[in-house]
Amino acid sequence: MENLIIGSHVSYKKDMGLIGCVEEALSYQANTFMFYTGAPQNTMRSAIDEEKTKKAFDLMKEQGINPEHVVVHAPYIINLANPKNHDFSVRFLKEEIDRCEQLGMKKLVLHPGSYVKLTREIGLENIVNSLNEVLTEEMNVSICLETMAGKGTELGNLDDLKYIMDHVLLKDKLMVCLDTCHLNDAGYDLNDFDTFLEEFDQKIGLNKIGCVHVNDSKNERGTHKDRHENIGYGTIPFETLLTIIYHPILAHVPKILETPYVSANDDTKEKIYPPYLFEIKQIRDKKKNTQLISDIREFYKKD
Ligand code: ZN
Ligand code: FE
Ligand code: FE
Repeated sequence: MENLIIGSHVSYKKDMGLIGCVEEALSYQANTFMFYTGAPQNTMRSAIDEEKTKKAFDLMKEQGINPEHVVVHAPYIINLANPKNHDFSVRFLKEEIDRCEQLGMKKLVLHPGSYVKLTREIGLENIVNSLNEVLTEEMNVSICLETMAGKGTELGNLDDLKYIMDHVLLKDKLMVCLDTCHLNDAGYDLNDFDTFLEEFDQKIGLNKIGCVHVNDSKNERGTHKDRHENIGYGTIPFETLLTIIYHPILAHVPKILETPYVSANDDTKEKIYPPYLFEIKQIRDKKKNTQLISDIREFYKKD
């Protein structure tokens, strides 16, 4: 019995709907996945096709993907911290929750927001107020607030998330998504993951972890950058990532890769090959693949 819940970001294409996501995940031998319901940087969204969604659920059942482990990522143009975007962000997040309900999805990952020209405190207050407008008793979706790298005025360290969760009225609708690249860049020492979990438990509570984004980082700890790297190619030791991925406390939590695509060769910049089949394999093998990039190029160039 496979018990590691692992998958990656996949793309949601309008013509295929949720079926396309499931098929892409299966091509990586994943047993879960994460998707944006449209382009992450814009708000163009097509209507959800019920028939395709039903077929996608049949396919998931047949292939052993538990839909409860599938994750949706809210578009990152939503900024609940900035009153300038308030009406738009609140409306769009509400619509996104409706789309999750229509798709039968239970977890929606959200970047808390950036305070831009305000202060940290006012930014946090705005997030709390906006979430109070958005969350309803009836909704079946949990909003997973993501831990952020702290790039610019971005909110999302453990203290920020604690403040938000302590002040939002419908706290039981909120969870947290841990992102290993973001945590590293924010300054947390993932090499001592149990100490991190202790801090997390004191501030937020371990039962609140709803998703883990598994990414290596291009930058050193504490640099506040947020640039994801392929597993084993960045600054986070492979062993450290394995410790997190296989941590018993997180056994029931979906692990999602958001690592960059790979270019066809060293001379081109264009990233065209998904790394996930091979990254998932090296995680399951628990053995670092020093040939990861060349294996990926070799495999995809054939077709
Ligand atoms: Zn994110
Ligand atoms: Fe992430
Ligand atoms: Fe990121």
